[in-house]
Amino acid sequence: MDNSGCRRRQRLVLFPIPFQGHINPMLQLANILHSNGFSITIIHTNFNSAYTSNYPHFTFRPILDNDPKVNNLSKLGSRGAGDILSGVVLLNQYGEESLRQELDQMLMASKQEQEPIVCLITDALWYFTQSVADSLKLPRIVLRTSSLLCFLVFASVPFLDDQGYFKQVNSLFDEEIIDSDLKNIILASDKNKFKKTGSVKSVKDLEERVLEIPVLKVKDISKMKIKGQTDPSAKILAKMVTQTKASSGIIWNSFKELEEPELEKIHKEFPIPSFLIGPFHKYFPASFSSLLEPDRSFITWLDEQAPNSVLYISFGSASQMEKQDFMEVANGLANSKQKFLWVMREGFVKGSEWVEGLPDGFLDLVGERGRIVKWAPQQEVLAHRSTGGFWTHSGWNSTLESICEGVPMICSPFWGDQPLNARFVSDVLKVGVYLENGWEREEIAGTIRRVMVEEESEDIRERAMCLKEKVNVSLMKGGSSYESLGSLVGYISSL
Ligand code: UDP
Repeated sequence: MDNSGCRRRQRLVLFPIPFQGHINPMLQLANILHSNGFSITIIHTNFNSAYTSNYPHFTFRPILDNDPKVNNLSKLGSRGAGDILSGVVLLNQYGEESLRQELDQMLMASKQEQEPIVCLITDALWYFTQSVADSLKLPRIVLRTSSLLCFLVFASVPFLDDQGYFKQVNSLFDEEIIDSDLKNIILASDKNKFKKTGSVKSVKDLEERVLEIPVLKVKDISKMKIKGQTDPSAKILAKMVTQTKASSGIIWNSFKELEEPELEKIHKEFPIPSFLIGPFHKYFPASFSSLLEPDRSFITWLDEQAPNSVLYISFGSASQMEKQDFMEVANGLANSKQKFLWVMREGFVKGSEWVEGLPDGFLDLVGERGRIVKWAPQQEVLAHRSTGGFWTHSGWNSTLESICEGVPMICSPFWGDQPLNARFVSDVLKVGVYLENGWEREEIAGTIRRVMVEEESEDIRERAMCLKEKVNVSLMKGGSSYESLGSLVGYISSL
């Protein structure tokens, strides 16, 4: 859709969180809005800003970590979940003054250029930006890069904590306070063998559904790796939720048909305009905002494989795996006898540079029936006819990209929103299988065969293809995402 041409040009200022899974959707959104007639300025940190040269049609303004006096920001790291969290906290903590000065200058210049800045669009996790926008009387719209379900669950953390869910799961998983007998029962429960016994009467069955959010099982709460409302990450999420409520609207990288019940709840609990215009990457691919150079050397090999015969494996841009789990993954893959393309980032395995932890003989197998790369053009791989399955960490971008190509998933979430996405994909959409009992080679091999070749795979693939069709309809004229984009453009123009 292109509504440009008939309006006086207005400028939008967009501000992504500097991590791959957040940069991609923000830059895609920038392109969508640009093609609808808006001029775009991107505010960014120097940290993780390698993508900027690919967007000559945008203006880029570095802030926050370009001030050598602010030593704290030099602590920003790019590897691992902990670093992302501390990065988000650091940037939120030190950002206010720099952002206010930068926006103030931009607002003054825009008056002279006759191109008014009409709104600031920031990642929801940039919670500090709401007060800055308020002080400058600039409307702020939030981009939430994950699902509606995830946002609702994050918003419910205090409530779930008050209901005792975190106490239950924490007491189960806190190594300090559980005796070894109970720990064994818990470990067994994680393998679906949990039976309530006299000794754990007060413990809710981990397999039970959460009464208030029935999509989830009780054990999913622990897998978010939040320990309750006083946990530092829960505090970040609480601020994100409060400042989103205070904003002028929310843009979601999702589509109505995917999350209809969740949208109803969002309308009730967040009475500000919500725009579901996704999936964004259907308008513009993510590769331009890639922080790593995608390797395309395997494409000829992929071209030669039979339709739906290759399992694509990628655990996203930030997750890290323990060495022993990595061995289970490699052995499970070997035992599955399936072809594969495996994205293994440098530093993905804790304590290893790259592939040196692979079991003996695995690299021979790579020659015979697989390829390993450091970074892939993921959307192209998922759209390839030879790709028959996606073993994913269930990041929201990866989940949407798989849905859009009708590729069945194996879900192995690590933390945060990923376990929620995994549950949604397996239990609600039924377009994937949740490998929910950790990393164990025989279960891995069996699950790969279930999704790639066994009878069940036909049904999963059929449902995945149906969902792909729904996405396409939502993006067509008259479809929900198409219409919502029209509303968003109208809304921003009226601000
Ligand atoms: N990605 C990619 N090549 C790879 C692996 C991932 O281009 O080899 C992209 C993927 O297409 C997605 C993003 O990186 O757009 C990962 O985002 P997601 O939300 O799935 O996970 P995160 O990295 O934030 O955990």
